[in-house]
Amino acid sequence: MAFPNHADFLIVGAGIHGLSTAWHLAERLIQAGQKGEGRILVLDKSGIASGASGIACGVVRNNYFQPAMRKLMAHSVGVWESDPVALSYHPVGYMQISSESMREDVASIYEQQLAIGYESTFVEGADASDAYMKDLFSDWQAQGITSVLHEKRGGFSNNTKSMYGIAKKAEDLGVRILTGVEVVGLVSESASSSISAVETNRGVISCEHLIVAPGPWARDFWTMLGMPDQIIVKGLDGQVHEGVDMWRFWQLEEGVLQVPPETLKTNDGKVPPVIHVDTDAPLMSCVDGSLVTDEMWGIYYKPDAHFGGIQGGASPYKVKTPVNKVAIDPYGPSSPEFIASDDFAHMWVSALAHCHKRFEGLMGKYHREASGGIGCFTADSFPVFDHFHGNVTLIADSNHGWKMLGVGQLIANEVLGESEELLEPFRFDRFEKGNLHPVSNSPYPWS
Ligand SMILES: Cc1cc2nc3c(=O)[nH]c(=O)nc-3n(C[C@H](O)[C@H](O)[C@H](O)COP(=O)(O)OP(=O)(O)OC[C@H]3O[C@@H](n4cnc5c(N)ncnc54)[C@H](O)[C@@H]3O)c2cc1C
Repeated sequence: MAFPNHADFLIVGAGIHGLSTAWHLAERLIQAGQKGEGRILVLDKSGIASGASGIACGVVRNNYFQPAMRKLMAHSVGVWESDPVALSYHPVGYMQISSESMREDVASIYEQQLAIGYESTFVEGADASDAYMKDLFSDWQAQGITSVLHEKRGGFSNNTKSMYGIAKKAEDLGVRILTGVEVVGLVSESASSSISAVETNRGVISCEHLIVAPGPWARDFWTMLGMPDQIIVKGLDGQVHEGVDMWRFWQLEEGVLQVPPETLKTNDGKVPPVIHVDTDAPLMSCVDGSLVTDEMWGIYYKPDAHFGGIQGGASPYKVKTPVNKVAIDPYGPSSPEFIASDDFAHMWVSALAHCHKRFEGLMGKYHREASGGIGCFTADSFPVFDHFHGNVTLIADSNHGWKMLGVGQLIANEVLGESEELLEPFRFDRFEKGNLHPVSNSPYPWS
């Protein structure tokens, strides 16, 4: 097929958001009786799932302290549930298990899940929490837990398998996905600021509407869009802060314990929910019994055949390199700089053993292979879904986004002229207006 010189809808990024937008846009065009074929083109400089979507742990949850995030996640979980087989989605549920410092925040999450009809169970108190966990896992042994939120929906999906499932849905509806094509510049209409074409390493492609879903490369597309590196942020306390970096990078550390995934089953032999534990209980080494940390720590884990064992991660850390100097490429496990450390492996396996007796003595089973990757977060760590220059839509998910499969559906509707209430709290002008999202006591930048 010849290299195209035009697409009505040009989408940059064959990650979860670019492909979900392409799939839903094609669906809408076909429903409206319009010809979808040949109108939607997805470009990626590498390949399908070569960014964050290809290495995501794949956890799908609702558990967010911010009401707008929770509503958006409830919508996205619905999209995952629409076709679990093609999307390689496992609806096993999700648990947030916490110590006292987080109990009130999680109680409010539960109340609001009740209000939006998102099914969950909430257990409070040390004894009741312990009994609830032992009822699921007889070897549960984490101390200091005083609340358990058990979401009945959500679960996890299998990064690359899901991505190829989404790509197939889009291609079956006439979307063209072109890989190995890097966008290097945007071309403006002479009389307006709208973007008439993109320059690529293989030629210029004109477009009516440009949708950019760049994942960790958000920083670079922000510059291409002529947007400022530093912005004004009106904080939740009403104070105005000037010169705040729009972007920052965090390193996500994840790994795999190479034991049969069935090692982690519930007492009744079922695949368990995804488990997330945040606690301030002292964490002792599973290797020599020394103190790993007496500060707040958190881990998440699940049995996952796609990863070949028990897979999960821990709290990320901030990348200290100045934001404009961070090397995003080569990305993920290929990066010489940003991969999970030995300290992570020790902490994470110790934490697994802290929670379950069955994981004691298994440090040697940790899979010593490069893993993890960086995420590009906004100034308040929440997504920016917005429209610029009249015909450009940016999907910058602030690294929240594997679970947000439904965002592409909402963006497709907005591109076709509808306005989506669920996306309103994520506009760029919230920083200057001070319409920020509330902040929780969780150790994660994404809760
Ligand atoms: C280790 C890790 C674990 C995670 N786990 C979870 C999880 O369990 N649950 C969850 O909800 N989220 C998780 N996330 C976050 C989630 O993976 C991301 O938020 C999401 O995948 C981003 O999707 P995207 O489509 O925006 O970007 P990406 O998947 O990164 O796709 C962007 C694409 O744009 C392409 N591109 C970039 N620049 C150009 C250019 N100039 N020209 C052409 N193409 C270009 C890239 O090649 C890439 O394929 C995790 C992230 C990491 C790093």
